[in-house]
Amino acid sequence: MPDQTVLAVDMGGTKIAVGIVGHDGRVLVRTRTLTPTEPDAEVVWAALSDAIDALPDVERVGGVGVGCGGPMVWPAGRVSPLNLPAWRDFPLRERLQARFPGLMVRVHNDAPCFAAGEHWRGAGKGVDNMLGMVVSTGVGAGVVIGGRLVDGRSGNAGHIGHVVVDPAGWPCSCGGRGCLEAVARGPALAAWAVQNGWRASGDGSAHALADDARGGDPVAVAAFARAGRAVGTAIASAAALLDIALVVIGGGVAQAGELLFAPARRALHDHSGVEFLRDLSIVPSALGPDAGLVGAAALVLDGPHYWTSGAGAPGG
Ligand SMILES: [Zn+2]
Repeated sequence: MPDQTVLAVDMGGTKIAVGIVGHDGRVLVRTRTLTPTEPDAEVVWAALSDAIDALPDVERVGGVGVGCGGPMVWPAGRVSPLNLPAWRDFPLRERLQARFPGLMVRVHNDAPCFAAGEHWRGAGKGVDNMLGMVVSTGVGAGVVIGGRLVDGRSGNAGHIGHVVVDPAGWPCSCGGRGCLEAVARGPALAAWAVQNGWRASGDGSAHALADDARGGDPVAVAAFARAGRAVGTAIASAAALLDIALVVIGGGVAQAGELLFAPARRALHDHSGVEFLRDLSIVPSALGPDAGLVGAAALVLDGPHYWTSGAGAPGG
């Protein structure tokens, strides 16, 4: 698709981001809006649809790439995001295909899109074997092996949030126990801190907790240390399995920077018994909040690396 632009969508439980991305991966225009909280699928669709219609030159795009919270039926693009209860088995790809007849429309999980974006144009550029990880309201990842995004059997490869880091740990929203996500998701950090005596400042979120940790609040620092250790432990397990060179981490909780990264690196070091794990790097996202849009565009603009399914072509 030479010289053509792509409509990119990053659909989350709290925010909807839409943008026009150039063939070189540059985000030419972007807007963000809050995801409606009404439990009505059509209200949420209308918000996305309005955001798309308001983009300049949207009728000139050559394809549509979408990252959305999972789980989903992939590659059909029927989505049931855990953090967006209004959509259950919502035919997102079908709706977009009807809005853009004849164009390629591809929908994937949001964390694999993040990984694709960072690998294509971000901190993982040129690294053939890596993990792109989002630590936010949820915890997810996308896996790149041999320079290609790995989808798995059902498009759900990379769910590192449900790797067990403490078999006796907290219950997880997935029904399991001791998953990484149950420790490291933003709300879990804040909840642990409150249980341990943190007097929630600001809005009581992980963002407020990070501010207090930077100010030296020992409980806040301990909350990030605990989450960071869990992140590093899960990375050690994943890396032992996959033999990767790099982990790129983004998402709201990762904005805490070294508060999270330093304990994650220490835990990785402590659990890196095998030699090939010892030079694994953990670095922050280079694309920041644009990573999801860039990765969604990559599904369409660089299909050979980021889209393995035969479906998603016009009418497919
Ligand atoms: Zn879980």
